[in-house]
Amino acid sequence: MIDLRNQSLTELKDLFVTMGEKPFRAGQLFRWIARGASDFADISDLSAPLREQLKETALLTNMKIKKVQVSAKDGTRKYLFQLLDGNTVETVLMKYEYGSSICISSQVGCAMGCKFCASAVDGLERNLTAGEMVGQLLEVQKESGEKINHIVVMGTGEPLANYSYLAKFIRLVHEKDGLNIGLRNITVSTCGLISQMERFGRDFPQVNLAVSLHAPTDLMRSAMMPINEKYSLDELLAACKKYTEQTGRRITFEYALVEGVNDTTEMIDLLARKLRGMLCHVNLIPMNPVVESELIGTKRKHAKDLQARLEAKGISATVRRELGSDIDAACGQLRQKVK
Ligand code: SAH
Repeated sequence: MIDLRNQSLTELKDLFVTMGEKPFRAGQLFRWIARGASDFADISDLSAPLREQLKETALLTNMKIKKVQVSAKDGTRKYLFQLLDGNTVETVLMKYEYGSSICISSQVGCAMGCKFCASAVDGLERNLTAGEMVGQLLEVQKESGEKINHIVVMGTGEPLANYSYLAKFIRLVHEKDGLNIGLRNITVSTCGLISQMERFGRDFPQVNLAVSLHAPTDLMRSAMMPINEKYSLDELLAACKKYTEQTGRRITFEYALVEGVNDTTEMIDLLARKLRGMLCHVNLIPMNPVVESELIGTKRKHAKDLQARLEAKGISATVRRELGSDIDAACGQLRQKVK
């Protein structure tokens, strides 16, 4: 069966032509898909025989909601979706003053093995298709009744390790006749896959890039993130600098603060020295607890002091708000509890 959510407008047109239909009909269907249509019977502007024919070969939905949890603290919603092959993925919807933002997963599991991350525990199962990334957005929009206008690809998985589907996903949600989400409203987060970062800067200079840094020395970063054994900190920072020059866009560094590890003033001063002169912003995230790990997060008050310390050295910095911490929806906590 064809997953219609995974089809670009061009692919849909080709499909319609092979079915002996006029290509403009594909545009009509594309708009219905983007509106979240789940039943061919609703697609009133396509003829009944065509709808029947589509029903036999194609699917309008590619996942179902297994569970929704709503944070009593801040209204954040966490979803567990079941995909057609039985795998499950998590998605988070956050409300801000400026609108709704969705945090989507890009893979089932993750191969990167970061020590402080719950998504890494069981390794990688498979990539998500573009249609499965779009599906998370469409289903959340339908269930919550919210119009989503910001996307962060910061859920489970390493998006740049799933480059072709990530690229297709960005193009799909940006399509004028579809969801029409602005490229500047999309952020992709990576643990630092250097060659893919360069390609990403070339293909999507307007999409925001966030890099998970988390440590200012190779010794410390390698202990936290196995990827650092492949690309050293200096290589990564050189690639980041190149990205800012290539795109003219600021890069965001994520820095998960782990108590007594990377949150000392010495470490923060070292970080400031490494980032000096770069077009960047540092997002400090007090690490969220993960059952398998004994590491604990930095207290908010100390995080605020570190932010001020970075700013005093000319490095723009914020402490990330913790949303959905009561429902395990905060950064790094995504992984279903029941198998
Ligand atoms: N693989 C990508 C995107 C997914 S992770 C990446 O590494 O960037 C999204 C962010 O959450 C990353 O910055 C990641 O390091 C961070 N993160 C993971 N576990 C965390 C935890 N327990 N507390 C705080 N942040 C965490």
